[in-house]
Amino acid sequence: MFYVLEFMKLLFVNLPPWSVESPPIIVSYLDAIVSKDKTIKSEIYDLNLELFLLSEEETKTIWKKQKCKYWEKEVFDHPKLSELLKILISKKADIVCFVGTMFSISLLNKISYELKKQNQSIKILIGGKIAKEEYSNKIEKSLIDFIIYGEAENILIDVIKGNFKSNKLNVVQENNLITFSTKVSPSLKNINFPNYEKFRLEKYEDQKRLPIFFSRGCKKNCAFCSDKKEYNLFKIRDPKNVVDEIINNYIKYERTDYHVCDLIINGDMSFLERFLDLLNKKNIKISWAGQATIRKEMTLDLLKKLRMSGCHNIAYGVESFSDNVLKHMDKDYSSSEAITVIKNTKFAGINVGINLLVGFPGEKKEDIDITIDLLEKYSMFIDQVNSINIFSIQVGCFVSKYPDKFDIKFQKNLDWTAKYSNNKESRVKRLNKLVNVCKKNGLIPEWV
Ligand code: SF4
Repeated sequence: MFYVLEFMKLLFVNLPPWSVESPPIIVSYLDAIVSKDKTIKSEIYDLNLELFLLSEEETKTIWKKQKCKYWEKEVFDHPKLSELLKILISKKADIVCFVGTMFSISLLNKISYELKKQNQSIKILIGGKIAKEEYSNKIEKSLIDFIIYGEAENILIDVIKGNFKSNKLNVVQENNLITFSTKVSPSLKNINFPNYEKFRLEKYEDQKRLPIFFSRGCKKNCAFCSDKKEYNLFKIRDPKNVVDEIINNYIKYERTDYHVCDLIINGDMSFLERFLDLLNKKNIKISWAGQATIRKEMTLDLLKKLRMSGCHNIAYGVESFSDNVLKHMDKDYSSSEAITVIKNTKFAGINVGINLLVGFPGEKKEDIDITIDLLEKYSMFIDQVNSINIFSIQVGCFVSKYPDKFDIKFQKNLDWTAKYSNNKESRVKRLNKLVNVCKKNGLIPEWV
C-alpha cells in the first residue's frame, strides 16, 4: 500500500533592506514553530543576504551603513534582482511569507507581481514590521492574500492551513485580502528556540553573532515613542528559557555573541537579575549587547554583574541632558540620574552608547546648550553616539494623538511648529550644532 504525504510548501522570504550581520530574528523563531507541524514543509530564502552577496564592493559598503533611503533604491534597481527572483519562483512554494520593513514595500510589490504572474494560485502572506496598517496604502493589496498584524506565533499555523474559523483569530476580509490578528496574546515564557538550520549561516558577516530577545514591548511611556505601540502588553521570557537557548546555540552553532533585539533589556529588573545569576552560574564565555533605558536600579553592582555575564555594550536612549526636555518627553529620570548610570556603566567596563533627539516640543534653545555642556563634560564616559535624530511625529506616538498638549501647530505642507521657535529650520540648526559638538569630542554619530 502507498501513502501519499500531503504537505503545504511554505517559503519564508526576508526582504531587503536589512542588516547582513546575522540571520533575521523573526524568521528563525517562526520557522521553529512551523517546523513542528509535519504537514508544513518550510524553507527560508534570505533575499536580503543573497542580494548583498552578489553586490559590488561599493554597494556592500553602503548596505552595511544602512542608509535606508539610498539602500532602498539600490536594492530596487539591483542588477542581480531578476536572477534571484527566478530562484525564488523556482522554489514552487504554495505560500510565500514575506517579512521586511517599510523600506521593503516597493520591492514587495514588485516581487509579488512577478510571483503572481508566474503562478496565480500562489498565496502571499506578509507579517512583521512591514505589516502595519499605516503602510497599507503603499502596499499593492490586490497582490496580497493575507496579512498578519502584530504577534503571529500562535496563529501562523492556522493562517497557513486556512483554519480561519479558529477561535484564536480575528479575521477581516476586504475583497481578496484577508487580514488576521490574534485574539490571545501568546505567552513568551517558554518559547521554542529559533531554527537556524535552514539559513546559510556561514555567509553572514558576523560569524560569532546571533540575535536573541528577552522581552516584547515596553512599560515606559515616552511621548515620542512609536515603537512600543506594536505590542499592547509588556511580556517577558522565562530567564531559564533564554539561558537554555544561549547554551543550545553555543552547542549547535558555536555562536558566542548575542545582539539582544529588545526595545530595552532592563524593562523588568527581576528578570535581568535572575537571567544574570543563571548565566553567570553556567560559566560559559559569551558576549552580548543591547539597548536600555536609564533607571536608578542600574547600579554599579548590577552593571558589574552584567559585565561578568559578557555584556560589553549598552545603548541608552538618553535623548537629552536637559531636565526640561526630559520632562516634556515624559521620561522618568533626570539628567543627573542619566549621568550616574552612564558613569557606572563605564566604570563596570561596559561600552556606553547613547541616542539623542532634538526639536522635541517644549525644547528651548538653551536646552540644547545644556545638553552640549553636559555631553562635553562627560564625553570621556561615552564611547559612541549611536544616533542623533530630529524629532518627527510618528503615527501612534503620544504626541501624534494629543498634538494640542504639546502646542503643535500643523502647517499646510505637513510640517509643524511649536513654542520657543521650534520649526523645521531651527530643528536642523540645533541638530547641526549638536552633531558638530559630538564630532569635536570624537563621538561621530552613526546615524543622523
Ligand atoms: S523610547 Fe524606549 S523606553 Fe521609551 S517607551 Fe519607547 S521603547 Fe520604551
